[in-house]
Amino acid sequence: MRIGIVGCAGQMGRMLVEAVLDSGDMTLAGGTERPGHPSLGGDIARAAGRNACGLTIGSDVDALFAESDAVIDFTTPDGTLAHAEAAARHRRALIIGTTGLSEAHRSAIATAAAVAPVVQAANMSLGVNILLGLASRAAAALGSEYDIEILEMHHRRKVDAPSGTALALGEAVAAARGVDLASAGVRTRDGHTGARPDGAIGFATLRGGDVVGDHTVMFAGPGERIELTHRAQSRHVFASGALAAARWTEGRPPGLYGMRDVLGLT
Ligand code: NAD
Repeated sequence: MRIGIVGCAGQMGRMLVEAVLDSGDMTLAGGTERPGHPSLGGDIARAAGRNACGLTIGSDVDALFAESDAVIDFTTPDGTLAHAEAAARHRRALIIGTTGLSEAHRSAIATAAAVAPVVQAANMSLGVNILLGLASRAAAALGSEYDIEILEMHHRRKVDAPSGTALALGEAVAAARGVDLASAGVRTRDGHTGARPDGAIGFATLRGGDVVGDHTVMFAGPGERIELTHRAQSRHVFASGALAAARWTEGRPPGLYGMRDVLGLT
C-alpha cells in the first residue's frame, strides 16, 4: 500500500514517515509541507532522522494524492481542508488526525467522505478509544448527581484547547447522558463564576513541558469520585493507529469513519 504523508516534517509527520519505513507492508509514496517551509526540497526520510530514501519533500498536493493509495494528515485545520478537497478530487482514502477542526473544515471532510473512505479521529491510540467507551458507559450508569469534569495536559507547543480528545470525551459523555455538549460544556472558569450549574460538563486544560497527552474523565458524586485516566507515553501510539486506519481503508466503501470502526469497538 502506497502512503502519502502531508505535513511530513512536523512532529507527527516525521514519526509517520518512520512508521511507514519500518512497516514492512507499506511504501512511502511521498510527502508534502506547507509552502515556504524550510524542509522543502530536502529528503523525506532524512528529515525524519533516517537514511535518505530519494524522495523529496514537495508542496504539490495533487501529485502526492495521485501517487498514493491513502494519505495521512496531521497538519493544521486549514491544511486538512485543502487535503480533504484533494481527497475528493482524487477519490483517495484520507486519514485525518488534525485537531481543532471547525464546521467549515468538517463540511469539506464530509464532501470527501461521500466519494472516498475517510477516517477522522482526534486520537488514534487504542487506549483512548477504549477510554471513550468506558467514559460513555460510566456517564450512562451514574446519575446526574455525579458531576463530570474532563482534565487534559499536553506539551507546551500545543496550539488548540481543550484538546480534540478532551472534546471527543465530552461528546461521548454528553451523548450518554442525552445532553448537547454545546450547551452543557463549560470550557473555562475565571473570577466569580457562581456555583457549578447542574449537568455541566467541565473542562480544564494544562500545558507544559513535553507531555505527549494525558486525559482524565472525572465523575464527582456524593461521597465518592471515579477517575478514568489515559496517559500517552509516546507519539508512536498515534502513528501506529494512523497506519492501522490506512490499512483498514483498503477496499472500504466511501464514508466517514472513526477509530472505533477501525478497531472494531463499535
Ligand atoms: P506540528 O506543528 O509539529 O506539525 C504539523 C506540520 O504540518 C508542520 O510541519 C506544518 O508545517 C505542516 N503543515 C501545516 N499546513 C500544511 C499544509 N497546508 N500542507 C502541508 N503541511 C502543512 O504538529 P504535530 O504535533 O505534528 O500535530 C499536528 C496535528 O495533529 C495537531 O492538530 C495535533 O493536535 C494533532 N495530533 C493528533 C493526534 C491524534 O491521535 N489524532 C496525535 C497527535 C497530534
